[in-house]
Amino acid sequence: MNIILLGPPGAGKGTQARRLVEERGMIQLSTGDMLREARSSGTEMGNKVAAIMDAGELVTDEIVIGLIEERLQGDHAGGFIFDGFPRTLGQADALGALLDRHGAALDAVVEMRVDDDALVERITARSTCGMCGEVYNDITKPIPADGKCSNCGGTEFKRRADDNAESLRTRLMEYYKKTSPLIGYYYAKGDLRSINGLGEIDEVAGAVSDALA
Ligand code: AMP
Repeated sequence: MNIILLGPPGAGKGTQARRLVEERGMIQLSTGDMLREARSSGTEMGNKVAAIMDAGELVTDEIVIGLIEERLQGDHAGGFIFDGFPRTLGQADALGALLDRHGAALDAVVEMRVDDDALVERITARSTCGMCGEVYNDITKPIPADGKCSNCGGTEFKRRADDNAESLRTRLMEYYKKTSPLIGYYYAKGDLRSINGLGEIDEVAGAVSDALA
């Protein structure tokens, strides 16, 4: 099964994708994670996109389509979760063509709906474990008092450079201008399932499962 998790920044796409990886053995393809990895390893492409990412703008279709194309070459028996990709109509067309070429298809697009106020609250308070990526929130899920990640025991936590109010404003504008048209695009294809992304992680995971059933 190949699925897209679609939603604004902070909707919980990464959190739900990790659940699906654990529970169903699917493969998470997050273009955001791939780009951050390219930045931290100092590749030419990573250096080129760093300022764009920090400002909250989208990097070019060509770059992210190239990243996805590379990953589709490998084993895909468990199915893919596209997380943060596609983000433009051009990327959506390219994904369709790539899957076609691999004899695969898209099974569902799960749109995670969360209102803007909740997104701002989630993102400006967000940190993640540097080892396993477990997501914490200063208010709703603080880092444990012993300073150790509850999932893996890691002791280093990171905040993303673009998780600040100013970049977030741009990221939201980019989402509404360039990514939200994908809701209509996939609705017209009959692939869209919309769920409420507000609420406890388990509750949202249940809604994702129902949407995929
Ligand atoms: P994310 O981790 O998905 O929130 O992505 C972080 C940043 O990486 C975005 O704000 C963009 O600058 C860039 N990015 C990630 N995925 C894409 C994509 N599919 N198309 C364009 N830019 C992307």
